[in-house]
Amino acid sequence: MSIKIINDYVKISSKHRPGTKRTGFRGVTIHETGNRAKGANAKAHRNYYHNLANSNSGGYIGYHYFVDDKEAYLMHPLDEIAWTNGDGSGDGNMKTISVEICVNSDGDFAKARTNAAYVAAFVLHKYGIKKVIAVTGADARGNKAKANLFQHRSWMNKNCPETIRNKGYWNSFVKAVQTELDKLTGAKNTNTNNNQGASNTFTPYKVKITYKDGMNVRAGAGVDCALVKGVTAKYGITYTIVAEKVVAGQIWGKLKSGVGWICLTGFTKKI
Ligand SMILES: [Zn+2]
Repeated sequence: MSIKIINDYVKISSKHRPGTKRTGFRGVTIHETGNRAKGANAKAHRNYYHNLANSNSGGYIGYHYFVDDKEAYLMHPLDEIAWTNGDGSGDGNMKTISVEICVNSDGDFAKARTNAAYVAAFVLHKYGIKKVIAVTGADARGNKAKANLFQHRSWMNKNCPETIRNKGYWNSFVKAVQTELDKLTGAKNTNTNNNQGASNTFTPYKVKITYKDGMNVRAGAGVDCALVKGVTAKYGITYTIVAEKVVAGQIWGKLKSGVGWICLTGFTKKI
C-alpha cells in the first residue's frame, strides 16, 4: 500500500549533499536508523539531516529516504548519490538508493517495514525493475553480483539493518517488496491499455480524501489532462476507485462515477 512520500531535499554541501550524480543504478540499500528514542521518526531525522547539511558539520554522511510507520521523506534527488553505505566510491554509495527505516520505540516497526517495502518497490519500479533479486546469507553478499535489493551489510562490515537481520525479517521484507512491486507493475500495465486503464483483473477499492482543500478531478490520469470543471473530490469523503495508472511516479485513480481521475499518492487514504 502506498504511503505519503515527501520530497524535502537538503541544501548542497560538501560533506552531505555534494550534488554528485549517480554513476549507474544497481538498486536499493536497506538500513535502520539505530535510534530507538521516542520521537525519532522520519520527520525528526529529516530535521536532523537538514541541520547537518545547513551547517555542513560532522563527518561525510548522507541519506536518500527516511521512512517510519506513517510517511517517508526523500532528502536527495534520486539521480544524486548519498554517502550512506560506508563504501567510499564503491557501488553502494555511487549506484544505490538508500532507505533508512526508523526504529523509534514509540513507532510501529512492522508498519514502518511495510512502508519501507513500498518505498523500495517505488524506486525499483521507477527504474523499470519487475523482479526483486535480494542479497542472501548472513553476510548479505550472496547474490550480490545480480542483486537489486541490498542491505547496508552488503557494502561494509556493519550489522545494518540491525533488527531485520537479528530477528530474521529479511526474507519476509523481500517478499513484501515484491508484493508492492507487483502492484505497481500491475498499475503501470493498465497504463498501456487504450480503454482508460480498465483492467480485467482490477479490484475496485475505496479511498478517503485526506487533502484538506479537496482534489481536482481530471479527464485522464496525470496533471497534463484537462480539469473537469466544477467537480472536486472533497476532503473526508469516500470514493470508489475502479482503475489505476501510474504517471510520473504517482498513482492516479479513476472515480467510479466516471467523471474523471484523481491523484491518489499523497492525497488519499485507502480504506
Ligand atoms: Zn545502515
